[in-house]
Amino acid sequence: METILVLAHPETDGTLAKPAREALHAAAALHKSLAGSNLVVGLIGENVQPAANSIAASPATKYFGVTGTDFSQSRYATDAAAVEAIFQTAQATLVVAPATSRWARVLPGVAQRLGGRADTHVTGVAVTDGKISISRWYYRQRMEGALTRTQRPWFIGIDPGSHTPCDCGAGTAAVQMVPVAISDSHRRTTVAGLREPKADAQTIRPDAQLLFVTGAGWTKKQTDGQTHVPEAEKLILGFLKKSRASLGSSKSLVDLSGEGQTVLPFLSHLNQIGQTGATPRHAKGLSTCCHGEEPHTVGWRFIGERRAISLDPACGWARGKTDILYVADAFAVISKVNELLSEGGNT
Ligand SMILES: Cc1cc2nc3c(=O)[nH]c(=O)nc-3n(C[C@H](O)[C@H](O)[C@H](O)COP(=O)(O)OP(=O)(O)OC[C@H]3O[C@@H](n4cnc5c(N)ncnc54)[C@H](O)[C@@H]3O)c2cc1C
Repeated sequence: METILVLAHPETDGTLAKPAREALHAAAALHKSLAGSNLVVGLIGENVQPAANSIAASPATKYFGVTGTDFSQSRYATDAAAVEAIFQTAQATLVVAPATSRWARVLPGVAQRLGGRADTHVTGVAVTDGKISISRWYYRQRMEGALTRTQRPWFIGIDPGSHTPCDCGAGTAAVQMVPVAISDSHRRTTVAGLREPKADAQTIRPDAQLLFVTGAGWTKKQTDGQTHVPEAEKLILGFLKKSRASLGSSKSLVDLSGEGQTVLPFLSHLNQIGQTGATPRHAKGLSTCCHGEEPHTVGWRFIGERRAISLDPACGWARGKTDILYVADAFAVISKVNELLSEGGNT
């Protein structure tokens, strides 16, 4: 009989973030399909009661907590000790956790301590004939693999964005506190603070509805024989500000900065989409001034509806890579779209 333990940590405001609710949704579905299984929740943080209350109506039968200032920050030694303690108390066989940076750092190590196995980047969990299988993507999201394991404990890290977040319903949860002995050797690492770009400078927005991709065409000579990089910058930033889209880029454009050319300063390799870049999940995508070559478009695998604006009617997008290709000048199109958005439209 499987006991499924869902791990989560509250955010600084005490709430449970979307990735935690997605992991809970995946675990609850697994529990429903696995006859005789138990579902329990383990929460780690300074104070976990509000988070537990926010999911009190979930199908979980028990809530375990490790709390105190030692557990407010993401730190391998204290988090690993807390996970191990909850795991032992719950007598779990399966551990499901969101693959946040906090859990991704800890889970494989705890699995090793407990003689278990850990799988990361899991995007699907299913039960067939009473056998659990997980799925994940390989070879830069080109192939999907499904695998099963007989080894227990089995730690499963759910990729954020791959599941619907559970809307379990709030109430009052009875949290069973699990004691963990922490010594100075556990506290050697301290999080000194968090550094993040200002809200306006943060161009990567995983929760955005739209992915807006910029290609090298924005920096190329246009019909007048000149480049128009300052204008490109203004149009792109204007569009991002109005649409709240997430910003992606082709490799050629982000590489230009490394070659010392005039480029768009808000782009870095973190924005790169494709084979050697990211494979984000957004409902819609709009590509601009990008050719749509295979190494780039492979990163669009999880984008629901695709559109592209390119001057070249024979570009890669035209060959089945996009739902709609606008053969048009992106400078003119985005300028008009920005104008419409300023008048109160939306994307
Ligand atoms: C091993 C390997 C891995 C790679 N990994 C990646 C990856 O992860 N991600 C990635 O992106 N690439 C990757 N590449 C590179 C990829 O093959 C392409 O070279 C790159 O994507 C091209 O970028 P681009 O389309 O922006 O530029 P270009 O090929 O220069 O295309 C620019 C486009 O802009 C259009 N254009 C110009 N002006 C305008 C205008 N005013 N309006 C509309 N359109 C206009 C042009 O018609 C042209 O189609 C990889 C390549 C290799 C070999």
